[in-house]
Amino acid sequence: MNGKYTSRSVYDRIQKMDKIINSLGRWLGERVDILIMPRFGSSKKFKVRVITVVLAFILWVTVTGIGIFFFIRAYDYNITKADNRLMRVKMQLISDELERGRKYLELTRTTESQMRQMLGMPGGKFVNMPKGWEEKQEKADARAKAMFGKDLKDFDTEEFEQYIDEIEDTAQTRLAGFQEIAWYYANAREGLHSTPSIRPSTSRISSGFGYRLDPFGRRSTKRHNGLDFAGKPDSPIMVTADGVVRHTGWVNGYGQAVLVDHGFGYSTLYAHTTGIRVKAGDVVKRGQTIATMGSSGRSTGTHLHYEVWKDGQPVNPRNYFK
Ligand SMILES: [Zn+2]
Repeated sequence: MNGKYTSRSVYDRIQKMDKIINSLGRWLGERVDILIMPRFGSSKKFKVRVITVVLAFILWVTVTGIGIFFFIRAYDYNITKADNRLMRVKMQLISDELERGRKYLELTRTTESQMRQMLGMPGGKFVNMPKGWEEKQEKADARAKAMFGKDLKDFDTEEFEQYIDEIEDTAQTRLAGFQEIAWYYANAREGLHSTPSIRPSTSRISSGFGYRLDPFGRRSTKRHNGLDFAGKPDSPIMVTADGVVRHTGWVNGYGQAVLVDHGFGYSTLYAHTTGIRVKAGDVVKRGQTIATMGSSGRSTGTHLHYEVWKDGQPVNPRNYFK
């Protein structure tokens, strides 16, 4: 019963659709009058089929659609053009910033020179740039200007990379320069440890540096290259700066002596000792007891003969402690 009802319903629908199509066909095939009435002159009357009108409508819609499409495309193009202009302005800003960064980097070169002067450092391989360096710099400036002035489409990525590489090179050179300064400074601080700066003995000073009277009251022609400390036998002798023991043992005229190298042009000598506690090659620290006071060698009594040498010349040890 239900199935019968359904098949009949479908049949009814098909029949209905058939009727609509037939009437639509008839309607499309029908002729209508189109009357054109100009303001002046006689009117004209066309007899056209409905299908013609429908096709004309479809054609009109299509043409309008294409028109809109092209309009949007032109609009897009203009937007892109504006974007490009904006991009160029942005590029200009970036290039200006980059150039400024590079100039600042150059300024650090002056700072580096000043630091070296302040530290009493030699020029160093990084400060003395190769000849024609400034010319090269000017050329780089001109190249940068030309590169950033170009149209976007002519923008050369390789050229830009080279430009960035150059900045990186300069930065690395500067960094190496500053590292060299840091290294030098650290070593200069080491130099403080290597400069004699304490008394080698707590005993009293019995003879100064320079010319002195000989035991017969005449002014000796022989310089006294050191300082004498007269004290009790076996009182400690301290090394006056960090260093490396260069020699221990008998030295003519000096008896049992200890010679210590401190680097930075300094060495110290401790003579007429007994009980040497170090040997050649030992690393010693300032204040360390290296020997005891005696009277070995050409000596008239228990004393320490102490010398300070700077750059191959004996200097007054009195200037190396308070
Ligand atoms: Zn002496």
